[in-house]
Amino acid sequence: MTTQNERLFARAQQSTPGGVNSPVRAFRSVGGTPRFITRAEGPYFWDADDRRYIDYIGSWGPAIVGHAHPEVVKAVQEAAARGLSFGAPTEGEIDMAERICQLVPSIEQVRLVSSGTEAAMSALRLARGATGRDKIIKFEGCYHGHADSLLVKAGSGLLTFGNPTSAGVPEDFAKHTLVLDYNNPQQLEDVFKKMGDQIACVIVEPIAGNMNLLRATPEFLQTMRRVCTQYGAALIFDEVMSGFRVALGGAQSIYGIAPDLTVLGKVIGGGLPVAAFGGRADLMQHLAPLGGVYQAGTLSGNPVTVAAGMATLKLIQAPGFHDTLAAQTSKLVQGLSAAAADHGIAFCADSVGGMFGLYFAEQLPVSYATMMECDKQRFNRFFHAMLDANVYLAPSAFEAGFVSAQHDDAIIAQTIAAASDAFALIAN
Ligand code: PLP
Repeated sequence: MTTQNERLFARAQQSTPGGVNSPVRAFRSVGGTPRFITRAEGPYFWDADDRRYIDYIGSWGPAIVGHAHPEVVKAVQEAAARGLSFGAPTEGEIDMAERICQLVPSIEQVRLVSSGTEAAMSALRLARGATGRDKIIKFEGCYHGHADSLLVKAGSGLLTFGNPTSAGVPEDFAKHTLVLDYNNPQQLEDVFKKMGDQIACVIVEPIAGNMNLLRATPEFLQTMRRVCTQYGAALIFDEVMSGFRVALGGAQSIYGIAPDLTVLGKVIGGGLPVAAFGGRADLMQHLAPLGGVYQAGTLSGNPVTVAAGMATLKLIQAPGFHDTLAAQTSKLVQGLSAAAADHGIAFCADSVGGMFGLYFAEQLPVSYATMMECDKQRFNRFFHAMLDANVYLAPSAFEAGFVSAQHDDAIIAQTIAAASDAFALIAN
């Protein structure tokens, strides 16, 4: 029988490339039909066949307080009733900027934009403009949105500049991006020794969430901080995913390292399009209209999206919010690990705050290379078994998962019970 999801997917493919507006939604990695979502509430969403799922994507991070939280919805409705967009400044933008600076102390000034891609792209331009240098360093497996300079993978040798990972990115752009190994401080140090005076910035996910969940080692980030300072390069933490998610002050508060610039997104919009980049005031002063680095946006600091973000930030500042979120997430990964062990499956899991990783491997991966050794086929079977049991995980073996404040003990227990059945199914 053709389901409503199948009908919608067939229809979508007529008018939209691949039927989706962002590739991972298409289920290409896991196979099958994407679910078309009609509504969401708390820890759940419903698809076009009116099936309810426990959601562990949370819109890929923003839904930290749960879907359609009444206070966020109310803030949006009230802001919308006052007008959708003015193209002139509002007090709400000042409130948001002040709140971000207060919660993330390395940020002295901040600018609001509409997507993480835009924020990372702008931070790079700022670092290049402020240092007068062109070269940048990123790390294999980290994702920073789809700006040209960042869709680049490693070249064949240590000092070979990167190759585009997307058609349409000129080699001439990619040659300014050097792609190094995550969690390899020695390699980073060697590169800086050879060409530190040409490097504008290093951009990193301090807790990576785009090659599944992978923690940076403290030594890796400390080395990064030291060499950036020594050679006058800007250190950019991309906390679009980890910001306000792994802790109220982001990954930088966990590691105790202050980057020069931070890129934020997801949670600060509470489900509407808000992102930001900010950091040292002396760097931020290079931005137009004060300085020569141009950056702008018709909808930047939009009053409705800012209202959603502020309502979300208010909720996550409640005492103990992140402790409870971390405890629930930890309960989930411990329960999944125990269930996998019961069925003799090579599996482990990790979590930081409200973010988690599931790995079909004997040991926790520590690098991009070890991450890629996880059993993708087994994950795909697990994904579909969980989907059949109405639990919606990220449709890829290499994406992190997200827990919201609405995932209570009963939801976690239900998920673990479903996983136990799923592990039994894929054990052979
Ligand atoms: N940086 C990180 C760490 C991300 O995880 C993402 C998106 O997943 C981005 C940047 C890009 O953000 P957006 O999808 O809002 O453009």
